[in-house]
Amino acid sequence: MSNAHSRNVDVLVIGAGMAGLSAAAALQMGGRKAVVIDKGRGVGGRMATRRVGAATFDHGAQFVTARDSRFGDVLGNARTAGAALEWCRGFTADADGHARWRGTPGMSSLAKHLALGLEIIQEKQVSALQQLTDQWSISMADGETWSAKAIILTAPVPQSLVLLKAGGVALEEDLMTRLSAIQYERCLAVMAVLDGPSRMPPPGGFAPAQGPIAWIADNQLKGVSAEPAVTIHATDEFSVAHWDQDRDETARMLIAAADEWLGTGIKSFQIHGWRFSKPRQTDPSSCAVVSSAPPLVLAGDAFAGPRVEGAALSGWAGAEAVIDATPH
Ligand SMILES: Cc1cc2nc3c(=O)[nH]c(=O)nc-3n(C[C@H](O)[C@H](O)[C@H](O)COP(=O)(O)OP(=O)(O)OC[C@H]3O[C@@H](n4cnc5c(N)ncnc54)[C@H](O)[C@@H]3O)c2cc1C
Repeated sequence: MSNAHSRNVDVLVIGAGMAGLSAAAALQMGGRKAVVIDKGRGVGGRMATRRVGAATFDHGAQFVTARDSRFGDVLGNARTAGAALEWCRGFTADADGHARWRGTPGMSSLAKHLALGLEIIQEKQVSALQQLTDQWSISMADGETWSAKAIILTAPVPQSLVLLKAGGVALEEDLMTRLSAIQYERCLAVMAVLDGPSRMPPPGGFAPAQGPIAWIADNQLKGVSAEPAVTIHATDEFSVAHWDQDRDETARMLIAAADEWLGTGIKSFQIHGWRFSKPRQTDPSSCAVVSSAPPLVLAGDAFAGPRVEGAALSGWAGAEAVIDATPH
């Protein structure tokens, strides 16, 4: 039963990034009814693609690797559906030769493909989780209150802990210590539309060994953008030091630092700050079971590996934990 202000769901998955989408798909395969909600306007979370006029930027995750065969199958299916392809096998002459995949046209396309067939509600922000006797009560920022028999929470861990604290959910001391220790890098990401082609060689991605830039990518060479468009990711160190500085000024500093790879003028630029970019360290478990009755599981890239693939593996582990705790 549902009305405009409340809804009762079987499993609520919070977050439509790779972890949440993977969890919801696995729950559906396991015969559970899952609803995914996300505070953002689109799906994909940190697998993000932004359009600026005729230019398109992957400004979060740049590529995806598959070490696990199950995740390799997901990428293979996405390729068949036209939502992903192999970008390259490395960015330097001495590269390791592992396939780097990208979404087509952009990284968010992979997320959109994985979202097909799932119930996803966007622009809905959770503000607190509260435990009732045999279910969870979820307070939304818009004043709605939902209930769920089980929850998989895939926001970055510090954000998830805020939601638990707001609803008075107590964690076992050991788990709380482990989760509180998880910190994330920050990343200031500049998206610059260029006057003409950049100086970058194919395949269009490069990680400088020193200086304020961690990564620079030519979205046109990559095949994402119709117009010359470069993404510049600042290092964690630079991003932390400049987080509270004037963002346009900071973007200009990064563009100046990228001059040797740009080699042309800038038509326009935008800057985005990723407060939770990549986990500095990951938890040894593939997900964190906060409660098994009623089930509440934390999943995401802080558990099974600090990358897109890790988020998928953790989402699957979270779904498995919920399925085990809620037998038919
Ligand atoms: C700049 C950058 C570069 C990266 N490069 C790479 C790369 O090249 N390769 C790679 O493998 N990985 C890369 N990563 C890491 C990769 O993006 C992440 O590991 C992965 O996308 C995490 O997925 P997730 O589902 O765990 O989290 P997210 O993608 O962060 O998803 C969590 C979702 O939860 C939602 N949410 C949070 N709080 C709430 C709330 N209160 N209510 C409702 N919804 C909420 C968010 O809107 C978000 O959509 C990069 C990340 C960044 C930022």
